[in-house]
Amino acid sequence: MSERSQLPTGVHRTAGPEETEALAARVADALAPGDVVLLSGDLGAGKTTFVRGAARALGVTGAVTSPTFTIGRRYEGRVGVSHLDLYRLADLGEEDPALLSDYLAPDRIGFVEWPGIAEEALAEAGVTVAARVRLEHAGGDARVVTVEAV
Ligand code: ADP
Ligand code: MG
Repeated sequence: MSERSQLPTGVHRTAGPEETEALAARVADALAPGDVVLLSGDLGAGKTTFVRGAARALGVTGAVTSPTFTIGRRYEGRVGVSHLDLYRLADLGEEDPALLSDYLAPDRIGFVEWPGIAEEALAEAGVTVAARVRLEHAGGDARVVTVEAV
């Protein structure tokens, strides 16, 4: 991370996964430890692709894939990076929000796919949401990616 830049807020159009990763890298450049980014969008919209691009920009070198059999993965780049996918959680609100604190911490940058199911638990966990990213199919490999600062 060199000098922190501004979040590229607004509506973007990407023509393929590389462009979504490049946009994610610009978002990553604007993040600081403790920040959490919430990602929404249909299956296959590109949430995990976005997280991969952001993680790369944060210095993560290994494979960045969807968490399976767990709610999240932790990576170590130039900063700790956590990637959560809450899709399979029926209702985290009834579970211990401390589960989230295994991943979301003041010294890490977090990315959360399907956060809706855990909005309450996220709030209880004292998470600072820095940005919301919404990805939408726009025909073929095109996606509309909306970045909102929180
Ligand atoms: P999600 O996590 O939202 O379910 P993924 O990132 O796992 O989505 O999958 C998105 C799929 O769509 C990948 O196979 C990716 O290569 C493909 N794809 C095609 N065009 C784009 C684009 N513009 N942005 C992101 N992914 C794209
Ligand atoms: Mg995904």
